Amino acid sequence: MRKPLIAANWKMNTTPAEAVALVRQMLPELETATGVETLLCPPFISTLVVADLLNHSSVMLGAQNVYYEDKGAFTGEISPLMLAGVCQYVILGHSERRSLFGESNQIVNKKVKAALKVGLKPILCVGESLADNDAGKTQEVVSTQLRQSLDGIKEVVGLVVAYEPVWAIGTGRAASAAQANKTIEMIRDVLSALMGCEVAGATRILYGGSVNAANIAEFISQPEIDGALVGGASLKAAEFISIVRESAAAKRCH
Ligand code: PEP
Repeated sequence: MRKPLIAANWKMNTTPAEAVALVRQMLPELETATGVETLLCPPFISTLVVADLLNHSSVMLGAQNVYYEDKGAFTGEISPLMLAGVCQYVILGHSERRSLFGESNQIVNKKVKAALKVGLKPILCVGESLADNDAGKTQEVVSTQLRQSLDGIKEVVGLVVAYEPVWAIGTGRAASAAQANKTIEMIRDVLSALMGCEVAGATRILYGGSVNAANIAEFISQPEIDGALVGGASLKAAEFISIVRESAAAKRCH
């Protein structure tokens, strides 16, 4: 059984004071959610203050990015060693990192290796552009991203994959649940070919892209979808709480 994971990606939103206020609003409700793991990924500057608030709670903490070296002359970067022990998860290869900051599959691969080395669980994001989707290239693009981002990796304790079609992120135009389930099924097949069916069967694969309280039930009810990576809707406490509650209820019915 894969426990569903509902992850909040706050992106470059919230000052530290706002992050604290948001956690305080959400935490009591998130802690009572059963059968679902919840994860908050605030901006780096709020990591420690949010870690303090989440201490002894069931809610997990993640980062939105990390560099692949442990230390040194890399001005402005944060290393896996710095995050280990503070965060449990790190989002890697988000489409915004790929398109705005030039992150290739090769760079993402180095980051996945570096995160795993220190026990940080990577949430590896993959997803096709609208042009690739229209050209019927979803399978080809996503499987290449997976193969190259996971190249040379055999031990993947805690790996999570997030399927996020680029055209669905922040657009209000979510994929259909059936469409997402089909691609996630393919992702599991690729994982199986790369790492064996035991690893593929144990790896949680999330959907991300305009998830909200109104559509989460449809996604989470799909057999291959193990949770969601939520951007915009995770910045509203009531909406994120509803997403978590809906997820717990939908998975209990299965
Ligand atoms: C994301 O940032 O990973 C995301 C899915 O954003 P949104 O939910 O706003 O589409």
